[in-house]
Amino acid sequence: ATAPAFLSVWGMQAYYGESYIVQDISFNVHEGEILALLGRNGAGKTTTLRAIARMDNPQLNHGEIWLDHKPLHKMKSHEAAQAGIGLVPEDRCIIPGLTVEENLQLAQIAPPIGWSIERLYDLFPRLAERRLQEGVTLSGGEQQMLAVARALARDIKVLLLDEPYEGLAPVIVDEIEKTLRIIKSQGITTILVEQNAVRALELSDRAVILDTGGIVFDGSAAEVLGDEALRAEYLAI
Ligand code: ATP
Repeated sequence: ATAPAFLSVWGMQAYYGESYIVQDISFNVHEGEILALLGRNGAGKTTTLRAIARMDNPQLNHGEIWLDHKPLHKMKSHEAAQAGIGLVPEDRCIIPGLTVEENLQLAQIAPPIGWSIERLYDLFPRLAERRLQEGVTLSGGEQQMLAVARALARDIKVLLLDEPYEGLAPVIVDEIEKTLRIIKSQGITTILVEQNAVRALELSDRAVILDTGGIVFDGSAAEVLGDEALRAEYLAI
């Protein structure tokens, strides 16, 4: 028998109100890897991330989600967060009226286990320089860094990133990519949803492609990069 995957989604269906968005999807994520979750607009990527983080919406009607032997499907969002899930949503959700440092302090569990604020500043020197600046006045790239740092401050095991590169200049994307490699080297598992599929695939170990709420590909990221027909059909690249 093979060991169960670190994060496992099995037979998951997720819906909003009357509409089923994700239909019976199953995939595994291995500990410490970066998995790109790709697909066209509306394919169900954000819905999948929100379902794993156990947000109130979408609702699950079938299926199981396991993280390190813990049944996420039975949990509420705050319990999934405690179990180690860190969702960084597309809008980043920096808290207004608080400085960079206060945003981090508010997220941090006490006492910090892995990621002290000083260690986060080593990882994101730009945040250290701006520690007393109000978080919402940061540039888009800096806000993305703060959102990731805040997730790490909670001592997560799995980082769920929803379009982290959106609206950012290529040099800032380079910087964030470098940080994501360091985070991976620290053993954190990442699911990366990105419209910029080429950049996401270059960083990722494996890829899952969604189309109209179902999985159409599950394999290595290099395989997707090398398969022109697959890229054209589902990723328009
Ligand atoms: P995008 O890249 O455009 O963000 P996506 O793959 O992340 O796409 P989702 O955001 O998961 O796609 O959306 C999948 C479908 O679910 C879309 O048809 C969307 O309109 C629908 N949907 C998303 N959120 C809700 C909601 N709160 N209520 C009803 N339908 C929703």
